[in-house]
Amino acid sequence: MLWDDFINSEWHDWRGSGRSEDRLAREDWLTEFISEHELHIAVPLTSDEQELLRQLRSFLRICVQRIVEGTLPSRQQVEELNRWMATGPVIRQLKIDEDQKGVLSYIPQNPGLQAAAAEIAGSFAQAIEQGELSRFRICNNPDCLWVYYDDTRNRSKRYCDDKMCGNLMKVRRFRAKKKQQSEPQK
Ligand SMILES: [Zn+2]
Repeated sequence: MLWDDFINSEWHDWRGSGRSEDRLAREDWLTEFISEHELHIAVPLTSDEQELLRQLRSFLRICVQRIVEGTLPSRQQVEELNRWMATGPVIRQLKIDEDQKGVLSYIPQNPGLQAAAAEIAGSFAQAIEQGELSRFRICNNPDCLWVYYDDTRNRSKRYCDDKMCGNLMKVRRFRAKKKQQSEPQK
């Protein structure tokens, strides 16, 4: 989804090196992101444009954090989300695709960075509207902080990736337990 891909542009090394990377500053990452989500943004971004997107990103992360803790965004946060969306008016357009299915698309009236920010904010607003809030997640590995939507049937997805973070945390728990067992009893 657009909103979580966007938040995850703030990358943290899940292996725990403490390294992090702002992928908004990486042209190759941005180019792929833009093409995957059909956004109208010209790369490379100016520093002002990066700053604008960073503001949106921190705001969205705060909202996700709150949702993960079981609370809806506050009234001020909803207002702020609406302000982000207001910067990108769209025209709705219906098309019939090859499978004879109606597809509604939203064409930005003033394509550009503001419109893209509005679209990202809109994708988050749509997730709040249509998704189940109890499925919003931040990876349980404290070094990772990856944001995702848990679409498993029993809502059991605790890590962004079971083979990576899930496995790493299992190994850590195992080592901690072993260390505890090998310490002399007092
Ligand atoms: Zn993770």
